[in-house]
Amino acid sequence: MALELVMVGTGSPLPDASRAGPSQLVGVDGRWFLFDAGRGCLMRLAATGVGPAQIESLFLTHLHSDHVTDVNDVITTRWITGFPGSPLPVVGPAGTQRFVEDTLRMLEPDIGWRVAHHDDLVTGPEVPVTETTGVEGEVVLDDGVRIIATPTDHRPVHPTVAYRVEADGCSVVLAGDTVPCGGLDLLCAGADVYVQTVVRDDVIRNIPLQRLRDVLDYHSSVADAARTATRAGVGTLVLNHCVPTPGPDPDGPNGRNEWLAMAAEHFDGEILLPDDLDRIGVGT
Ligand SMILES: [Zn+2]
Ligand SMILES: [Zn+2]
Repeated sequence: MALELVMVGTGSPLPDASRAGPSQLVGVDGRWFLFDAGRGCLMRLAATGVGPAQIESLFLTHLHSDHVTDVNDVITTRWITGFPGSPLPVVGPAGTQRFVEDTLRMLEPDIGWRVAHHDDLVTGPEVPVTETTGVEGEVVLDDGVRIIATPTDHRPVHPTVAYRVEADGCSVVLAGDTVPCGGLDLLCAGADVYVQTVVRDDVIRNIPLQRLRDVLDYHSSVADAARTATRAGVGTLVLNHCVPTPGPDPDGPNGRNEWLAMAAEHFDGEILLPDDLDRIGVGT
């Protein structure tokens, strides 16, 4: 059994032509689970060869706009390109039910037109929602693939969760946006791969824009993520959703190698800063 992580979108709220919004696919033996659905998610999915109809469930780390902008696209495109009666289960923190209901309400005119036009579409999209309980280590799926949710700390955005996917003794943690916290350490313990939203505090502190500096409050710095990786004893640290966007020259200022070197000061394992569509084998 092979567990694979596909970096669908590696971007942040800052628009970037080469980085779609935050979104990751985890594949286990032909089963596909999508984590967050940021800007351009379906365009990138088209390049992976995994269509919206193949997604078994959508998991949301939190309802910040950059992580959910394209949930409506996933819902609609799955509905209009799939067979009737293919519900899209969504798992997320408290508030997800209302978010999905509001999304379907926003789509109401479109749903009405399509149902009126296509004889085989008799109902709108079915999107059953399960909200996580907020209890650490909650098992939200356990049928050969085990998915565990744990609350994280991205306050004032609340509640937020991270997920750990386990299959055949391999594990990957999708941490989303969070500062270091005890629950995250536990979730990451011994994981093969740990994906973390990171910001360059050293760069952002020197930019005279308070709105940008505000993001330092609720994100892990590169050093924070590396220290979490070390405490938890993970195999590979994946720097993701980087703010500011790494520069185009890997060896230049703010280039990929600078980010990797900063993390390496605090973590001895493998460190990656992937591009969109990069595939990362988990436990292989
Ligand atoms: Zn966020
Ligand atoms: Zn974010």
